[in-house]
Amino acid sequence: MSDSDIAIVGTGPAGLVTALAVAAKGHDAALIGPRPRNDPERPDTRTIALFEGAISLLKNIGAWQACAGDHTPLEAIRIIDDTGNLFRAPEILFEARDIERQAFGYNIANARLVAALFECVLAQDNLTFIETSRVVDVRTHDDHVEIELEDGRSHRARLLAAADGRNSLCRAAAGIEVTRWDYPQTAIVCNFKHTLPHDNISTEFHRKAGPFTTVPMGGGGGGIGADIGADIGADADAGHMSSLVWVEAPGEADRLKALNDAGYMAEMETHLQGLLGSVTAIGPRAVFPLAGMTAREFARNRIALIGEAAHVVPPIGAQGLNLSFRDAAYLADCALSAPGNSEGKHDPGMQSVIDAYNDARRRDVESRAWGVDLLNRALISEHYPMQFLRGLGLHMLHAMPPLKQAAMRAGMKADGALPSLMREG
Ligand SMILES: Cc1cc2nc3c(=O)[nH]c(=O)nc-3n(C[C@H](O)[C@H](O)[C@H](O)COP(=O)(O)OP(=O)(O)OC[C@H]3O[C@@H](n4cnc5c(N)ncnc54)[C@H](O)[C@@H]3O)c2cc1C
Repeated sequence: MSDSDIAIVGTGPAGLVTALAVAAKGHDAALIGPRPRNDPERPDTRTIALFEGAISLLKNIGAWQACAGDHTPLEAIRIIDDTGNLFRAPEILFEARDIERQAFGYNIANARLVAALFECVLAQDNLTFIETSRVVDVRTHDDHVEIELEDGRSHRARLLAAADGRNSLCRAAAGIEVTRWDYPQTAIVCNFKHTLPHDNISTEFHRKAGPFTTVPMGGGGGGIGADIGADIGADADAGHMSSLVWVEAPGEADRLKALNDAGYMAEMETHLQGLLGSVTAIGPRAVFPLAGMTAREFARNRIALIGEAAHVVPPIGAQGLNLSFRDAAYLADCALSAPGNSEGKHDPGMQSVIDAYNDARRRDVESRAWGVDLLNRALISEHYPMQFLRGLGLHMLHAMPPLKQAAMRAGMKADGALPSLMREG
């Protein structure tokens, strides 16, 4: 049986970044799960907007360099009210330079981020990658957790970071319950080429069925631009590129998904209202039913929840992985807070670490999940008072620049003090 101080189960972006974060803090760690790969049959064409703290974390764990050239700055966010409501809000442009920043964050292809993080995992001395198709059982004990792999091997750790996704087996082993909810909405996601430049602006059309959001891509000189451009099709000349997250009612999403490319592109152009010129090509479309989930506790019995094992938020406002990166950075700090015994040995799974992690994550996760839920429900609500309040809020942001700047700063900040790996330098 192998052993480590901290075992991380799950090789999605949350697990990879957690493994690198705890290793960067000097813990002896093991990452357990399948080797990450982008399945050509079902390519992951999602792009992920990462904000300031997440970028600092990538820099501090040495992974930002591995993503070099593959990210596009998000210099501004535009909101266009396309609800057709009586209380229609004015168009608002939030610009990073108004709060003395070059960019709010960067957009990067999920598959490229995962590949870059995995490269860093393999290069890290105090981190072992234990490849297995899956973990089949987890047993908790007073002073360790035992993890059984599908091929019969087992691993023992003081603390288990469960990053095994929304149906987490490790969460069940910890005895942690969750609260789940659904939305009457589905997101259709694809990347596309267009004739007018995006100017590094992400645009959210607020529609009654849900947001229709374009996110700029391809500024990186051959990174995600070249690769995802290849998925889109060689016949489309260079052009400009963006990703689209289009939220619709499930029946309408089914109809849109079934359209041929030309039909889909025509409908996209109608909703884009000329914003990015003509749509010249699109990549494969993927469909994500919208759902939400939060764990009722974030750590218990030497198991700490990370990423979608702890929280699922709909892809609105780009919060999901940003929250997961904060899980990783806080866990690295909390684990380090364990006092040493007489031999100077630390137990990163002791109860004080579990309590500190629960305290560190509860407010941040609950407030973000609540915020995304409120934004979405205010948009799709049929109630006039709700529509009025939403319209009024946007009017106030438009009319009062200091309020707009305060809102931008609040949007960039985590709740509470930043964990050490998210501070600059
Ligand atoms: C359309 C869309 C757009 C998004 N855009 C953004 C964005 O702009 N910004 C943002 O911050 N977030 C965004 N998100 C959210 C983000 O994609 C997710 O938060 C993130 O991918 C979750 O990563 P994860 O590692 O927690 O989970 P997963 O990626 O699901 O990884 C879980 C891993 O655990 C492994 N696993 C599962 N069970 C076991 C087991 N028993 N044993 C071993 N391993 C196991 C799986 O193989 C997998 O590797 C978006 C999501 C969607 C759907």
